[in-house]
Amino acid sequence: MERKYDVLIAGAGPAGATLAYLLSLKKSYKVAVFDSRSWDDLWGKPCGNAIGSHHFEELGIPSPRGDEIKQKVKGISIYSPSEKNVFTVYGEGFIIDRNRLGNRLLRDALSNGVEFYPKTQVLRPILEDGKVAGLEVNSDAGKMLFRAGITVDATGTAGVLKRSLPRNLPVAEQLDPKDSDVAFREIVELDYEVPHKDIIRIYLNQQIAPGGYWWFFPEGGNRANIGLGVQGGMGYPSPMGIYNSKLMLRPEISKRKRVISSAGASVPTRRPIDSLVWNGFIVIGDAAFTVNPVHGGGMGYAMIAAYWAAQGIERAYESGDFSESGLWETNVGYMKMIGAKQASLELTRIFLQNLSDRDLEFIMEKKVVSEEDVDILGRKGELREGSIERATRIVNDFIRALKISSRPSLLLKLKALQTFMGKMKGVYLEYPGSPVGLSSWQLRVNELRREFLSELGLTR
Ligand SMILES: Cc1cc2nc3c(=O)[nH]c(=O)nc-3n(C[C@H](O)[C@H](O)[C@H](O)COP(=O)(O)OP(=O)(O)OC[C@H]3O[C@@H](n4cnc5c(N)ncnc54)[C@H](O)[C@@H]3O)c2cc1C
Repeated sequence: MERKYDVLIAGAGPAGATLAYLLSLKKSYKVAVFDSRSWDDLWGKPCGNAIGSHHFEELGIPSPRGDEIKQKVKGISIYSPSEKNVFTVYGEGFIIDRNRLGNRLLRDALSNGVEFYPKTQVLRPILEDGKVAGLEVNSDAGKMLFRAGITVDATGTAGVLKRSLPRNLPVAEQLDPKDSDVAFREIVELDYEVPHKDIIRIYLNQQIAPGGYWWFFPEGGNRANIGLGVQGGMGYPSPMGIYNSKLMLRPEISKRKRVISSAGASVPTRRPIDSLVWNGFIVIGDAAFTVNPVHGGGMGYAMIAAYWAAQGIERAYESGDFSESGLWETNVGYMKMIGAKQASLELTRIFLQNLSDRDLEFIMEKKVVSEEDVDILGRKGELREGSIERATRIVNDFIRALKISSRPSLLLKLKALQTFMGKMKGVYLEYPGSPVGLSSWQLRVNELRREFLSELGLTR
């Protein structure tokens, strides 16, 4: 048996549910969404649940409200390895109840005519005449084929549809494990009231979380979401093992009444996939690596990718062109709005992963990078003009005053980071206007990455 729709969305996580919601506002498309999870488990991927409020405002998506909010957030504190140096950057956000927010977005979409198939496993894309023509699913009702002009892969890190496409397509690129974080988190009820609940906390410490960080996100009252991520593909110990052997020694974590949820998963930490579209096909969210590479927050970027997917779909239906070219607006929009920042932050991530705890401590203690720099870095993906020069002055004064040995190589690397971040952003802002320019643009990106790594003395 076969069914026909205009748009099929595989996966109803933050990416898929947001796209369903945005398309439902048009009321002109017949849309079906599939997820292997049930309503009770929607958006069930383990997560820190933190999201900036600006994402909702920028995209016109109703902000979390009522019991969709576990905790309102006013800012983030970043701790140095010794925890003696703390940067606090202010900005509004939420710790959300993912299941409740996911349910609301999807129910709103359903009330505007979208159809949802829960507990339905998406098996493969239908590949016909050089395009994706739909997908095959399996559920209690058995196997079924669904056809549509546009099929969207929003299945998270599984990338169920894109992994069945020809491997030479940019849209089918697979994730190098080193460009991911493997993470574990628990949601716990503590036996004390968490102080300063509206400040979420990130701890930089290569001994505890190599290539990543550990976090403590208050969830209201005496609850907290506590976890850590370590760089994948490096042979580091499992984050669950580290959590139990190291973090559990900390009094603020070990003092707990009960564990509400305990789970792990991975998250991409690289630039976005070079193209989010192909003939009759779009990929968004974790499946398209649309995640902030520095902190691994992916819900906001998944929503941005969904927004540009909705724009691309609208344009394709207006022109009747569902080819890669017809959907290209999704690429241009995403790359310019956030891909450029994401690609420059990937360089920051590589830089940070190669610093020792001593370097991190030095940078924060001497304010080589200041709180304000961190704020701008987070918002724009840029290291401020002049900040490195100022830092060099500060460090030189410090060296002169105390007659200690300097850290010139660290400053040179920081200077290189600033330069390459600016260049990378520039290349992404020149993302090609059609598929014709993609391969030469990819060469520019790859060349710039190679130069950056060589400047830092790294092989990748
Ligand atoms: C431990 C951890 C902490 C994190 N903390 C944060 C944070 O604090 N803030 C933040 O913004 N991000 C955080 N992230 C990242 C964030 O969770 C993801 O980036 C985000 O969930 C991506 O949304 P998505 O819709 O692309 O994918 P997902 O949330 O993974 O959703 C994909 C959906 O597809 C469905 N699916 C998969 N395969 C199939 C199939 N074959 N058939 C049918 N359905 C399928 C899944 O059931 C799922 O519902 C964290 C990640 C981890 C691992």
